[in-house]
Amino acid sequence: MTIDDCRRFYAEEIRFTADVRSPALVEAFARVPREKFLGPGPWEIASADVRGLSVMGAIKVSYTPVDDPRDLYHNVVVVLDKAGDINNGQPSALAHWIGALNLQAGDRVYHLGCGVGYYTAILAEAVGSAGGGTNGSVVGIELRPDLAARAQENLSGYPNVTVHTGDGAEFDPGPCDAMLINAGVTHPSPLWLDRLREGGRLVVPLTMSAAPTVGVGMMTKIVRERGGFSAQIVTALAIYSCRNARDAQREPLLKTAMTSGALMKMKSIRRDAHEPADTCLVHGADVCLSTVEVA
Ligand SMILES: [Zn+2]
Repeated sequence: MTIDDCRRFYAEEIRFTADVRSPALVEAFARVPREKFLGPGPWEIASADVRGLSVMGAIKVSYTPVDDPRDLYHNVVVVLDKAGDINNGQPSALAHWIGALNLQAGDRVYHLGCGVGYYTAILAEAVGSAGGGTNGSVVGIELRPDLAARAQENLSGYPNVTVHTGDGAEFDPGPCDAMLINAGVTHPSPLWLDRLREGGRLVVPLTMSAAPTVGVGMMTKIVRERGGFSAQIVTALAIYSCRNARDAQREPLLKTAMTSGALMKMKSIRRDAHEPADTCLVHGADVCLSTVEVA
């Protein structure tokens, strides 16, 4: 099989394993050359399912060294920095989360924690690349300067993508139709909610710390409706933590909500001033994870 055949098969496999309903998103996976984003081989790959268990100390992951770029077109994570716990993430998981964003041609997308930019390119392809007349755009940010520099270089052929180096917890992406937060937080930042346009979708991992750099939790989809911010669980996950967007006071509350199963009853993110009540899962003055449905 040629590498183009492998990439096409990979995209078709993701279509079914990640339940991707958007043809544009499947095409993006069939088009974007993953090997170009990962730099020269050899690479080390691992099953993401195995890696998730390793985060909880259940098992030790064994990575497989590969030097044929065709081997990157499987549902595997690829090591970027083994000691730092940084990988290019699991394609089926990312595809499912990106699918939850319901991207439309012309959308403006924010990608926090863009790493070396592979999934940023997928986002850019899904919202329309240059010349189509419905150009969307993506703004990415990456905390690690070495990765951000690689993302900038890797994405230099995408005029509709901008990559910043810095702290995503502080960064203001401007008004957006969709946001993918690619690192675990205790709560959605008020700034992200403020910057979501009406109808805008935010996909964000709410996690409890499981290891120094990694947390486990629930990928959550938040939609800005007329009457407030609706919230629903998308998948369970293990993901690298966004250190600067974690609140020590909320951490134990979120852990309780998660381990008791109460978080599954989350229906909304409340922004209005209110006293803590039984409907508050993780109460905060600015952002509260709540069981109250959006009116
Ligand atoms: Zn509350």
